[in-house]
Amino acid sequence: MMTVCLWLAAWTAKSSWGLVYLLPHARGPLVKYLLMFIALDFLDYLYHVAMHFVPIFWRFHLVHHSDLVVDVSTTVREHPGETVLRNVFLICWVLLCGASTEILIMRQTAETVANLLAHTSLRLPARLARVLGWLFITPNLHHAHHHFQMPSTNRNFGDVFSIWDRLFGTFIELPRDETIFGLDTHMEGTIDARLLDFVSRGRLSRLWLA
Ligand SMILES: [Zn+2]
Repeated sequence: MMTVCLWLAAWTAKSSWGLVYLLPHARGPLVKYLLMFIALDFLDYLYHVAMHFVPIFWRFHLVHHSDLVVDVSTTVREHPGETVLRNVFLICWVLLCGASTEILIMRQTAETVANLLAHTSLRLPARLARVLGWLFITPNLHHAHHHFQMPSTNRNFGDVFSIWDRLFGTFIELPRDETIFGLDTHMEGTIDARLLDFVSRGRLSRLWLA
């Protein structure tokens, strides 16, 4: 699906397709790279919110959240259904915005690095985390997203930037000694072994408590 996405990105640039081409200086570096990077980050924030609040999406995404030990391996702990969804959303974002191949490669590289760092077991010193956290999703902030109880699970949806969480009231900070990974509905640690039972994963009412 990534090949399709890259092909579409090349096509949008060639055809001047997408919202970006409604803006002045659409082919200038400021709009083409900086603004598009920020726009794609915002759309990824919306995607993550949808994965939590649309019940059928959450059934896939909870596989990622049910990890009881968050470390870099959690980055790739994903139900195949979510992988498909993520790529479908990305295709929609490329067509909507008119992201070019260069910006898509740049964005995906930055996102991969940010995701790996966010899931590392390393915590930044509190003061440094607070300064960086004004703009970026630090491991400290993403760990709060993996805390087992609400409302933390429905906070810090950001991918690279934390500004969307601050703007839309979904920002939270949680000290390390108060952070417990997992989901209070799935603490048995066996969910990762089951591929096709996502349709029966109930107990979704917790999503609406935040
Ligand atoms: Zn999540």
